[in-house]
Amino acid sequence: MSDSKEKPEAARMMEAAFGGVLEALGKMGYPVTSDDNFAETAARAARAMVELVRPPSEIAAEIDQMLARTFPARYDEMVISKHNICFGVCPHHLLPVIYRASVAYLPGQRVLGISKLSRMVQLLARRPVLQEDLTHELAELLFERLETRGSAAYLEGLHLCMAARGIEAHEARVVTSAVRGVFRDQPATRQEFLDLVTAPQLNLL
Ligand SMILES: [Zn+2]
Repeated sequence: MSDSKEKPEAARMMEAAFGGVLEALGKMGYPVTSDDNFAETAARAARAMVELVRPPSEIAAEIDQMLARTFPARYDEMVISKHNICFGVCPHHLLPVIYRASVAYLPGQRVLGISKLSRMVQLLARRPVLQEDLTHELAELLFERLETRGSAAYLEGLHLCMAARGIEAHEARVVTSAVRGVFRDQPATRQEFLDLVTAPQLNLL
């Protein structure tokens, strides 16, 4: 039942599958058996995929832990975690998606540590999930589970399945947003959030 048993099995299955991809590349004419660069590729590709896709049970457990350690809210202004760069894969092609994700909420009784907010976004992205669903799940989680007055999520996703194919490569950035509670009911609050996350920013590094 433990994840330590599930994970190696998933990794083994992925390694076997990537072995098949390599074989197919060999059929296409690539030197997969003679070029040393391909020697450990199936295992390496499997490890990379395992890092991009976390088991749902681990994600749920870590989020439960975070929500169990919240702090009393001392103010009622918008809490925002902006421009988190995170990674996942699309469920349609299993190719990487790079997100720039911003989330916000208006506190109820409790607040989440700001680093936890960022961590939560990173965690939920590491799944084979549709960007639209991810966006709604983030807003839902911050509204329902954190018991806030409202929440918002704004995601830009660079989808390699789109970016790497066809001539419309520059159109590959997908933008999605979701709002709950006050952010949905008060256009001014929603606009304040959108202005904050879409404003040009200083490059400090
Ligand atoms: Zn895709």
